[in-house]
Amino acid sequence: MPVPNTAIRIEQVETLLVDLPTIRPHQLAMTTMRGQTLMIVRLHMSDGVVGLGEGTTIGGLAYGAESPEGMKLAIDTYIAPVLARARPERIGETMALVGKAVQGNNFAKCAVEMALVDAMGKRTGLSVADFFGGRQHDRLPVAWTLASGETAKDIAEAEEMLANRRHNIFKLKIGKGDPKGNIAHVAAIKRVLGDRASVRVDINQAWSEATASACLPLLKDAGVDLIEQPVALKNIRGLARLARETSVAIMADEALNGPETAFEVARAEAADVFALKILQSGGLFAAAKVAAIAEAAGIGLYGGTMLEGGVSTAASAHLFSTFAKLEWGTELFGPLLLTEEILQTPLDYSEFSLAVPTGPGLGIVLDESQIARFRRDRRERSIHVLPTLKTGS
Ligand SMILES: [Mg+2]
Repeated sequence: MPVPNTAIRIEQVETLLVDLPTIRPHQLAMTTMRGQTLMIVRLHMSDGVVGLGEGTTIGGLAYGAESPEGMKLAIDTYIAPVLARARPERIGETMALVGKAVQGNNFAKCAVEMALVDAMGKRTGLSVADFFGGRQHDRLPVAWTLASGETAKDIAEAEEMLANRRHNIFKLKIGKGDPKGNIAHVAAIKRVLGDRASVRVDINQAWSEATASACLPLLKDAGVDLIEQPVALKNIRGLARLARETSVAIMADEALNGPETAFEVARAEAADVFALKILQSGGLFAAAKVAAIAEAAGIGLYGGTMLEGGVSTAASAHLFSTFAKLEWGTELFGPLLLTEEILQTPLDYSEFSLAVPTGPGLGIVLDESQIARFRRDRRERSIHVLPTLKTGS
């Protein structure tokens, strides 16, 4: 379909990888993260508007099928040619075209869609939340993940967070190592924190159903109030059996990859709570559909993260702010795990919550000097220069 001359066009698709250090090693069932790579996408449009998006994963390819490098390749090679002939003010139509040209690649698609929505917001003065009915909350509760792997360190970290009124919900990643030892670690933390904090666990698919079944009562006795993805993502029936066995809420995370899988999990009665992630869902609109399925099925909502940077965290916050009920809060703490700020005005984390940015669009501005400092191609260029200098001397 030819694009009319007067229509807005996407003139340039810019993608870049930004490598940022983390404040401490972040231990997960599948890997230990020592840094985080953000894939930033900018859509430069013919009316001068630039839409901003981000795609980020947990631990490169250790967590799932997409990596920041893979997202960049998918966008540069396969999605950009589609965008060149798309009408970016028709977000649904544009993403349908992208969907026809590219299967899967939920994270890359979400980053692109995010940039389209941001651009539309900047063009119209509306915030991203306004595209989803408008915010119902100005602040969202934010959990913190205790992942140092050491009980005393985790307790000290939690106490500090409580004293600073930054977090009173704590999640522990316990998929790695001996389950009984890990549960003792959780119990020790909950004993100290008591009613001052909610303590939750994420197994990241690491347990067999038998192990999970044996461990659920121990987690309940330890005072844990949410158990996330205890078994493999494909074992939806196993998850359903576990959910029936225990009165502690079971949350699906990796099992959710957009509306179709969300519908399957809901139909199997396999979860009490959904960890809703915009990247994993394949975009903001797909995530909104996942939320609608949860609402219709009486499943609670929790705003999840892929340990995203400020851009995708802001996008998630906009969407999550539009839900009437966000019973389990969010874990939108990604930017706090990084040593470096990439936004001109950092997101406001205080009073155990995150302030939803105000529009237009995502309501954030990148700090260009920080992007220039940490973008990978800058470093790669300097690495390539060195051997030339050596041979020349
Ligand atoms: Mg999880």
